[in-house]
Amino acid sequence: MRSDVLIVGGGVAGLSAATFTARAGFETLVVDSDDSILRRNAHVENYPGFPAGVNARQLLDLIAEGAARAGCERRVGEVVRLERAADGFVAETATGDRHRADRVVAATKNAVDYLPDAVEIVDRGKPFVAVDGRGRTAIEGLYAAGRLAGKPHQAIVSAGHGAEVAVTLLEDADAPFYHDWVAPAGYFTDRGRDLPPGCEEIDDDERRRREDAAREVMCDRFADPHPSAQPTHPSLTDAPSEE
Ligand SMILES: Cc1cc2nc3c(=O)[nH]c(=O)nc-3n(C[C@H](O)[C@H](O)[C@H](O)COP(=O)(O)OP(=O)(O)OC[C@H]3O[C@@H](n4cnc5c(N)ncnc54)[C@H](O)[C@@H]3O)c2cc1C
Repeated sequence: MRSDVLIVGGGVAGLSAATFTARAGFETLVVDSDDSILRRNAHVENYPGFPAGVNARQLLDLIAEGAARAGCERRVGEVVRLERAADGFVAETATGDRHRADRVVAATKNAVDYLPDAVEIVDRGKPFVAVDGRGRTAIEGLYAAGRLAGKPHQAIVSAGHGAEVAVTLLEDADAPFYHDWVAPAGYFTDRGRDLPPGCEEIDDDERRRREDAAREVMCDRFADPHPSAQPTHPSLTDAPSEE
């Protein structure tokens, strides 16, 4: 399978990056081993937009749902090898699936074993990937986002960094892009400006339709407690881990 963008790791950073690349029209595949560290949280109380906090599994589901609505595809799997190819990258999963992509965003927290040797790893007790100020690694077309890029261990920081890395990728790909904005009808065009790429103008009827649909979705998702169980720390059941 080939996509414009492969995102390795579908936690907070990866799904946020995927939302932006997919909304920009880039065919985006997320391969994720489905073990975001946020699942271990007991109650998220510092993610903007949820004044009384939110169930962490619910938050992850909502972020994943947003990425899917943006058009990205998500597959469960563990990437065990990522290599540079003549025309981009090829990733191989533990079950032998191969995914090709023009560009890759790595968002796997502290998992680095699958990355090409040319990627610089910084050891700070745990491994992180060395990046420039916009998430670019030493390999052109390969980016790192979120905790993997050494960002502070907070969900909103990872989400923001995922978005920034995605926008960086779009800029590097020379995609026609200004900002990913939805603006009121006439916001640009009534001032004699062309609608900038990445932007959309919607009229009042369409705004109301979208608001109604959004309210319906949120009421439904929060109608009942999230069904997921609170996971125990893996060291109590599995391999040791400091977090
Ligand atoms: C107990 C606990 C409570 C926390 N509470 C809060 C809180 O209240 N507020 C807050 O802001 N932050 C909290 N955090 C921190 C927050 O969860 C992280 O900072 C955030 O999830 C990091 O996002 P990320 O996308 O970088 O990594 P993750 O969300 O961990 O995502 C990484 C993803 O990569 C996948 N992956 C790894 N290797 C591979 C591979 N080889 N192939 C494919 N997929 C792979 C994983 O399965 C995972 O889905 C908490 C953390 C813990 C441990």
